Amino acid sequence: MTVREIRKNPFTNEWIIYSESRQTRPDREEGFCPLCTGSTEVPNFSQPLRIPNKFPSLSSDEELRKSKKGEFQQKMNGYGTCELVVYTDVHNAKFIDLTLDEIMLIFERWMEASKEFSSNKNIKYILPFENYGPEVGATLIHPHGQLYAYPFVPNSVQKELDSILQYKEKNNACMVCDFISSEIQDEKRIIFQDENIVVLIPYFARYAYDVFIYPRRHVSFLHQCTRIELTNMISCLRQSIVALTDVFQKDVSYSLSLHQAPVNVKGTSYYHLYFKIHTPQRNLKSLKLLGAVETSTMTYINSTLPETASSNLRKYFSNI
Ligand SMILES: [Zn+2]
Ligand SMILES: [Zn+2]
Repeated sequence: MTVREIRKNPFTNEWIIYSESRQTRPDREEGFCPLCTGSTEVPNFSQPLRIPNKFPSLSSDEELRKSKKGEFQQKMNGYGTCELVVYTDVHNAKFIDLTLDEIMLIFERWMEASKEFSSNKNIKYILPFENYGPEVGATLIHPHGQLYAYPFVPNSVQKELDSILQYKEKNNACMVCDFISSEIQDEKRIIFQDENIVVLIPYFARYAYDVFIYPRRHVSFLHQCTRIELTNMISCLRQSIVALTDVFQKDVSYSLSLHQAPVNVKGTSYYHLYFKIHTPQRNLKSLKLLGAVETSTMTYINSTLPETASSNLRKYFSNI
């Protein structure tokens, strides 16, 4: 029996997912890849495809149930969805090896999943993401990403949305649109820009290489982007990873995520979407591992100024 539960920390309003099925995940046979064509999960492959996560942290097999006991025990069952998106049938390929058309098809899978999941009113947030490399916990080499649909708005997203709504109230403008303009004016942290997209390491980056990719136009969801915006974003995503590889002169581990507005909650049209790519690599030799100062206070110590890291990456964006 798999126990999946989501409990709330009443002090911080964070939700924590408990999933005992992940502990019982069996070790894989050496040399066997469940994402290669011909496996049970992927019998055929013609283009990027969504498949269920075999060991999901969240599952919609049961109805959503919420309960509260006293002041301190608020929980719901581990409701939601976890899927994988298999990018290609080439086992050793990487995201950056894929063609623009292949990545566009991955985007299409994300968009159709977002539409499908958000039609369920119990789902409040959808996150498409990719973990690449052992340093960020990727256990399968075969190129793939993941999709999570949560029955709550994650705390970090809620905090962003609260700030955006407060800013809107005060200035009658989008905080992100204004932030992008101010970064462009300041120039120092801009890595690349064209008429549709801006790539930067923000003034407040947590990690040395914390790359944010914004559409200039105010859009809250990927499906609201034009074809040209999507195409330019794909080039920037790919080029950001290539630039990180060039800076560190090796295949770096990274996490890539798409931050769209929450769904089925009010005020989300004020959210401005972005992609984020970060690597735990902080210099040629070492990784940024979170120590007590970060884990106990969530106050990050970053040994590289965003201005320095942006300048390093900018050199490798010239040929986009
Ligand atoms: Zn494979
Ligand atoms: Zn905006």
